[in-house]
Order: sequence, then structure tokens, then C-alpha cells
Amino acid sequence: MGYSGFSLLKHAVTGNRRWPDVLAEPEMRASYDIVIIGGGGHGLATAHYLTSNHGITNVAVVEAGWIGGGNTARNTTIVRSDYLLNASFQLKHFALKLWSDLTQDLNFNVMYEPRGYVDLAHSDGELEHFTLRANAMQLRGADAAILTGDSLQQRVPELDLSGAKRFPVAGALVQEAGGVVRHDAVAWGFAQNAAAAGIHIFQNCPAISFDIDAGRIIAVTTPKGRIACKQVLISVAGSSSEVAQMAGVDLPLTTINVQALVTEPVKPALDTVVNYNAGLSYVSQTSKGEFVLGGATDGYASFARRGSFERIEDVLARAVQMFPFLSRLRLMRHWSGSADIPMDGNAIMGRTPIDGLMINAGWGYAGFKATPAVGWCMANLLATGDMPDLVAPFALERFANGAEQDDAGIGPYPWLH
Ligand SMILES: Cc1cc2nc3c(=O)[nH]c(=O)nc-3n(C[C@H](O)[C@H](O)[C@H](O)COP(=O)(O)OP(=O)(O)OC[C@H]3O[C@@H](n4cnc5c(N)ncnc54)[C@H](O)[C@@H]3O)c2cc1C
Repeated sequence: MGYSGFSLLKHAVTGNRRWPDVLAEPEMRASYDIVIIGGGGHGLATAHYLTSNHGITNVAVVEAGWIGGGNTARNTTIVRSDYLLNASFQLKHFALKLWSDLTQDLNFNVMYEPRGYVDLAHSDGELEHFTLRANAMQLRGADAAILTGDSLQQRVPELDLSGAKRFPVAGALVQEAGGVVRHDAVAWGFAQNAAAAGIHIFQNCPAISFDIDAGRIIAVTTPKGRIACKQVLISVAGSSSEVAQMAGVDLPLTTINVQALVTEPVKPALDTVVNYNAGLSYVSQTSKGEFVLGGATDGYASFARRGSFERIEDVLARAVQMFPFLSRLRLMRHWSGSADIPMDGNAIMGRTPIDGLMINAGWGYAGFKATPAVGWCMANLLATGDMPDLVAPFALERFANGAEQDDAGIGPYPWLH
């Protein structure tokens, strides 16, 4: 869509009346082959790959609010694949490959910036664990390095490595292919491509009930109408347990508030993402100059999305240990999202006990990095019925058969691990 200088001026003086909708609302059909519930990055990526990889367009995406208004646009934009467990690593590593080509693939600038992810260890024991992770990553073909002392100081000159601290820094695991991606661009890039290919996206349109006949999903009801369908994907992040419950499916999830904050913008001072593991606090600087900070979940289960001074204080106290200059910046905004977290801390993807009803949930506060890989794999499952190898370890049945995927430290209350 192009605007001449004249039309921009016209929109400015007419208060943007008749500004065309970027995403026009289509007429809802009585039936679709597939209904995707949730217009976040995961649901929209699934829609995109259904059309681009499989040529399937008879698909509706129903979003309760506005696209990308959930955790997709609330996260701190970090992408990386520095996981120890093979299943966790492989999915995120595939995602990193997709991130690097996504701007060209979508013809939409998602601003993937591989500026590196620096994970700080605070004891010799922790550094030994990081070395194990780095070795595993290298053996699987990913870049990984352990930096200590001068080499770490050179990589992050602003980092305070002086020893007189409660949690001194022993070293770091660095993945240079990690970094950040502009989160709302991801939602809009996937949405615009899916819509242009003929997929119908409905905003302000929550799924409110399911029709199930003889153990098979046959329809989704929304305030805009009942949609008959052959398959449904639930991809609603912090609302997963509530929406799955509408189909009588119990998910082993805890939902917890997670917060993030941003400072006023200043000149460039930090060209990477740094994570402080003692209690969790992580920092990156946006292209605009703001510092984005995040930390651990709240300490109790809740569907509320709200901030608390306790968490701000906690995240900032640790961030200032890393970068003392942050103490002089003003905090501009802070916000939160609802993280849905299984007890092993890993996602739940694949089939449910209801035929035709698929689930993608349990990504907690770590699922943005997997967005294109999730979309790719769930599209494959919906289109072919074949379970992708990358998804199989995350099946719901793992909680019944004892095959949990426990990457210690990414569960609901990481400080308890
Ligand atoms: C503060 C914070 C920081 C984070 N930082 C990172 C990070 O740096 N890196 C990382 O990898 N991950 C991070 N995450 C996690 C990441 O944001 C999520 O795992 C990921 O965005 C989930 O994507 P999604 O598309 O499934 O969810 P969402 O974007 O939340 O999409 C789900 C959508 O479903 C909709 N919905 C809900 N109920 C219904 C219904 N009944 N009918 C229709 N639609 C419905 C919601 O409105 C929402 O738009 C963070 C999360 C938070 C909260």
C-alpha cells in the first residue's frame, strides 16, 4: 500500500477519516476447513504456513481482541536456541533459521537483529553447567562460546565485572545468533501475508464454545456466528486452560503474571542482550535507545495482568548490579502478560483427546523465539495429519507416560529450581 505526500497530508488534515483498513474484515463463511483460535504470532504463523507451504486457504483465524495484542506484543523480543535438552534446542534452532529469512519470506521487515545473547553464570558450578550446554549446542551445529574475565569484558564493555557483589559474575555462555526481533511486526507480517493469500482473520471475535459430536470437533461458536469446521487449533497462550476447558480438555498448566519494563531512550550503550541468572533480570537496548528489562514470573498463580512495585524493584536491583549506569535512567512504562506454564516448563503441542482439536500452549514466557517454527510445524500437522518430529516430544500425553521435557530453570517458578 503506497501513500503519496499529498494523500498523507490529506489524511493529516482530515483526522485520518477514510484511512483504509490495513486488514479488512471479511464476510464470515458458515464453514471453514480449519479454524485457528488466537491471532497471536503463533496462530498467525500457522495461518501463513498453511497457505505458503501447503496451499490451504479455507481457514479462519478468530482473535478475541486485536491481532498481536496478547503476549506477542508484550514480550521482550528475545530469540535464541541455547537450550540443553535436544527437543527444546531443535525447535528453537529451526526457528532461528526461519527468523534469519523471515523478512524476505514475508516481504515485511521483522527486524531480526542477531546481536548476541549473553547468559551470565554466577558460580563455578553454574559455569560448568553452561559449558555443558555450550558443548551440546556446538555438537548440534549451533554457535556457542564460553567467555570469562577479559574476553567477557571485551564482549560487553559496560558490564560491571568487579568482584565485590552478592552474585559476582563467573563467566557467560554467549550465542551470537541470538538477539531480538520486532514482535508486533512479526504478527502483522504473518497476518498480512495470510490475509493476502485468502485466509480470513476476524478481530474482536472470541471463540466462546465448541460443538463436539461423537468425540470429534465439528464447530466453533463466536459472537459473529457459528463456524462449522473439520479441524481447530487452540493457540491462545495465557487463556489456554480456559479455552481447552470449553472442550472438556484439562491442561496441566499454571497461569502466572510476567512483567517487563522500559526506560527512557538514551544513546547506544549496549549492543547485545544480557541475562543475569541470579534471580533473573535481563536487559537489551532497542534501536530507539530504550532499555527493555524483564525478569522472573510473579510468585503466585493468577490470570490478572498487572504490574507490581515488588517485581520492578527486583528486576532493577539486579539490572543495576550488571550495569550501574541504569540507575540514572527514568522508567517510562511497564506492563505484563499471562504466561501459561506446565510443570516441566516446556510447551504442549499436538493432538488432544478430541479428534480434530489441536493444541499449542504452555509457552509461558519463552515462546516468542519459537514463533515461526511453531507455525511451520502446526501447519504441517493440520495439513497432512503427520506429527512433525520437532513437535512429537511436546505431546500432551507426556504428562501421563512420564516423558516430561524438564529444562530446569524454565518452569513456573524458576528460582525454586
Ligand atoms: C512480559 C513477557 C516477556 C516475554 N519475553 C519473551 C522473550 O523475550 N522471548 C520469548 O521467546 N518469549 C517471551 N515471552 C513469551 C512469549 O511472548 C509468548 O510465549 C508468545 O508470544 C506466545 O505467542 P502466542 O501467539 O501463542 O500468544 P499471544 O500473542 O498471547 O496470542 C494468543 C491470542 O489468543 C487470543 N485469545 C485468547 N482467548 C481467546 C478466545 N477465546 N478466542 C479467540 N482468541 C483468544 C488472545 O487475545 C491473544 O491475542 C514473554 C512473555 C511475557 C508476558
